[in-house]
Amino acid sequence: MTDPVHTRCLIIGSGPAGYTAAVYAARAMLNPVLVQGIEPGGQLTTTTEVENWPGDTEVQGPDLMVRMEAHAKAMGCEVIGDIVSDLDVDARPFRATGDSGRVYTADSVILATGARAKWLGLPSEDAFKGFGVSACATCDGFFYRGQEIVVVGGGNTAVEEALFLTNFASKVTLIHRRDSLRAEKILQDRLFRHPKIEPLWFHTLDEVVGTDNPKGVEGVRVKHVETGEITEIRCKGVFIAIGHAPASELVKGKVEMHHGDYVRVEAGSTRTSIPGLFAAGDLTDHLYRQAVTSAGMGCMAALDAEKFLADQDG
Ligand code: FAD
Ligand code: NAP
Repeated sequence: MTDPVHTRCLIIGSGPAGYTAAVYAARAMLNPVLVQGIEPGGQLTTTTEVENWPGDTEVQGPDLMVRMEAHAKAMGCEVIGDIVSDLDVDARPFRATGDSGRVYTADSVILATGARAKWLGLPSEDAFKGFGVSACATCDGFFYRGQEIVVVGGGNTAVEEALFLTNFASKVTLIHRRDSLRAEKILQDRLFRHPKIEPLWFHTLDEVVGTDNPKGVEGVRVKHVETGEITEIRCKGVFIAIGHAPASELVKGKVEMHHGDYVRVEAGSTRTSIPGLFAAGDLTDHLYRQAVTSAGMGCMAALDAEKFLADQDG
């Protein structure tokens, strides 16, 4: 058993919020330790072009996150590949336990665990996950060269996934439950102009159909939201892009939440209901959920932690 790792500031999560907090906490000489979690680099590693990160007209999401990690390390943050499976928010110092068995103790904690993809919750969706059903076009799109694909959803993610999948697929059907999209106008324009993409309005996914041997998707049954009429679409890939839910399990029932499972922070700060525990990024934000807003909150969290520790030291 290794000795506990002690730090002035433990950062949990390696998305834009976590790495920005790391840069600021390191520069404040807090000797931060950052635990990366199951998705080093966070959600942006699941996309391609990012066109709204200031200073880069276009940057690949995974490249941006590699640069952020390098930046955090260069400033002196210790970055650890582990997943925090338990966080004791009553202990002082705070005590986190990793999947690796390692224990982390900390005088302050910044939670930046972000969000993860939502699923529809259909048994057939679950049955074919990894066998034709996916929530990540950049990860799995390549498997569908020359095939027909459906994407479910109407937000930025769904439209970006649909556009990206045209690089591989012969046809992409975008299934949406309304007849207007939530996605940014610039993305909508690209989608409507694309010859390979066909939107299917007022429909929801009812069932994924496929074979067991070999296991794979053959199509989907979709339902008209008003008439209830069921139609079958042949396809080999099903991409679910219906939004993201905050990854707040570590503190569920331990801190105040809002809008469901988002961690509540005091207005204009990153202070949670527990002194010394700060939260930043998509984990706290049901509204903006952008890389740049997450990074901004990461900065705020490090500054809030620095002030908290200075006040403690008297
Ligand atoms: P995340 O990026 O979600 O990172 C969370 C981190 O927490 C991960 O590293 C994860 O491993 C870690 N973690 C979770 N649980 C634990 C645990 N128990 N222990 C340790 N670590 C843990 N935004 C834009 O501004 N522009 C875009 O072009 C854009 N494109 C996008 C495309 C897609 C496909 C998606 C899904 C999102 C996109 N976004 C975009 C949104 C943007 O990615 C998010 O707003 C941003 O990544 C949120 O940053 P975050 O640091 O809060 O969390
Ligand atoms: P989102 O904006 O919440 O959109 C989710 C979409 O899925 C909505 O169109 C919603 O329909 C639909 N949906 C939700 N539940 C459904 C269900 N059970 N059945 C059928 N459809 C369902 O999520 P997102 O697109 O993942 O975006 C999340 C955040 O990341 C946003 O803030 C977004 O701006 C950001 N992001 C930004 C970029 C970018 O800047 N380029 C790219 C990707 C993501 P309704 O519209 O009917 O509610």
